[in-house]
Amino acid sequence: MANVPATDLSADEALQRLIEGNERFMRGEGRSPFLGRRALTDLLEGQQPFATILGCSDSRVPPEIIFDADFGDLFIVRVAGNIMSPEIMGTLQYAGTYLHTPLFVVLGHEHCGAVRAALETKFHGTEKRERVQSLLQMILPGLAGVGPGLLPEGALRRAVDANVRWSMDQVLETPEAQARVAEGRYRLVGAVYELATGRVRFLED
Ligand SMILES: [Zn+2]
Repeated sequence: MANVPATDLSADEALQRLIEGNERFMRGEGRSPFLGRRALTDLLEGQQPFATILGCSDSRVPPEIIFDADFGDLFIVRVAGNIMSPEIMGTLQYAGTYLHTPLFVVLGHEHCGAVRAALETKFHGTEKRERVQSLLQMILPGLAGVGPGLLPEGALRRAVDANVRWSMDQVLETPEAQARVAEGRYRLVGAVYELATGRVRFLED
């Protein structure tokens, strides 16, 4: 591993950078990261990403584009439903321990098919293929507070937020994450990408 120092941005500065990038993207002023060929050689010695993002695999939610970020900026895990698993936890631990990214973001999104399918299992007992179903089972505990009384789209909106918080809770359950957050250098925030507007809505604590 190359001995490159971590970013010197604070967690709050890193969050501000994401917010400003998302604003550029919404204004249609985003730079395409795919034009940044020079960045490749600048990064030969290592990486100093300022944020780690756990997002959904959905093709409509590419973090580098919606945050107008460049090569080397974001350390990203994408998995359907932005769920937590031992492998994903290991990836986040790597980011915290070796890359020292000050900011961690769990990024859900509107109209998430994985969350929608988990709701269908919860309320209608719908079953998907075995491995898909086991993924949905990992979402269900976070949807305990989503009742059957809401209209489908209201339930989905509520469930997307709840699923983000559920992944955040699982990160924060680890003593290591608790210690890092208590030190004050690291922040974990939740966010939901709004498909229609391009806006990333950061969840209140
Ligand atoms: Zn999704």
